[in-house]
Amino acid sequence: MARNTDSVCRLCRREGIKLFLKGERCFTDKCAIERRNYPPGQHGQGRHKFSEYSIQLREKQKVKRIYGVFERQFRRYFQLAERSRGVTGENLLVTLERRLDNIVYRMSFANSRSEARQLVRHGHIAVNGRTVTIPSFLTKVGDRITVRERSQKVARIQEALELSQRRGVPEWLEINREGFSGTVKALPQRAELTMPINERLIVELYSK
Ligand code: SF4
Repeated sequence: MARNTDSVCRLCRREGIKLFLKGERCFTDKCAIERRNYPPGQHGQGRHKFSEYSIQLREKQKVKRIYGVFERQFRRYFQLAERSRGVTGENLLVTLERRLDNIVYRMSFANSRSEARQLVRHGHIAVNGRTVTIPSFLTKVGDRITVRERSQKVARIQEALELSQRRGVPEWLEINREGFSGTVKALPQRAELTMPINERLIVELYSK
């Protein structure tokens, strides 16, 4: 499987915003965006003129990086969003939010989406009582997500739950910290997705 081996903080610096890829560190002054908020590389601090295409491309890259998705899968999500009823850009974001790794992160069982992905792959997470090891598994309304009983003692899951107060849990999810479980109450509304994303640019890019 393809893997992005770049330093994750470089990805944030490339996009010029915090993508929250490193868990707790992202909330401290050690965050690279706090220290060096300019693109990485020799010409990072130079002046740049951006074409319409490069702005659209950057927006797509940003969203892929936030959710940790590669191009082929991202395009599949876009096609799914296009075929669904409603606004394509919003459908795309909702589909990404439904990924199991994202839900595990949002429910505060992990400090970052990459950590959540690892928890899922290692069999720590169950959906409606059955272990699911596929991070891209798409959850639906009513699904109950649990940390498996034998995994509830895993230090990084406990630590993530303790630290989660700062991040909060979105309204469309319900969690029971003591029970290491949560439910997808509804699909998120666009207004509830607060990352600075302009999905219209991605739709324009793929419509060329
Ligand atoms: Fe991005 Fe987090 Fe690194 Fe800051 S610490 S640059 S938010 S990954």
